[in-house]
Amino acid sequence: MEKAKKLPNKINFFNFAKKEVKLDGDYKISELSRLTEIASNENDKVKVNLSFRLENGRIPCVEGIIKSILVLDCQRCLDSLQVDLKVSFDIAFARNEFQADSLDDKFEIYLIGDDEELETKDLITDEILLSIPMAPSHDFDCGLETDKGDIVEEVREHPFDALKNIKIANFGKE
Ligand SMILES: [Zn+2]
Repeated sequence: MEKAKKLPNKINFFNFAKKEVKLDGDYKISELSRLTEIASNENDKVKVNLSFRLENGRIPCVEGIIKSILVLDCQRCLDSLQVDLKVSFDIAFARNEFQADSLDDKFEIYLIGDDEELETKDLITDEILLSIPMAPSHDFDCGLETDKGDIVEEVREHPFDALKNIKIANFGKE
């Protein structure tokens, strides 16, 4: 198996943006703890591409693509469901609402306050979880199978209820 390319543990917004850092690497799904709660293929990889830049000369931004194949539980029949994930994003790290308002609508805004850095894994995990539907299910009518016994209703709390910019999942479709 090819060796994982290292991504830095932390993203330093201003440093990376000023230097226009480009990162290319991957994680094993098992390294992203919140993802292992919903994905069962822990040994597979998540590929990550990140390009940093300054917007308006002062606001750090990152454009990125995350690719992975996740094996989730279908919330209708509870069988495994393979999801071909491709998440594209353009994030601006704004100090405050005022900075956020000055930005183009295309940006997803992270309000960072006084923080200088962010755990890379947290950013990647957040973006993946935001792109997965709350109740993933097969795109065929799998719910008609009745020979599986009682289907246990599983209520999973969406981890990002608090975020206001919930993205609509495109589930790998462009
Ligand atoms: Zn199903």
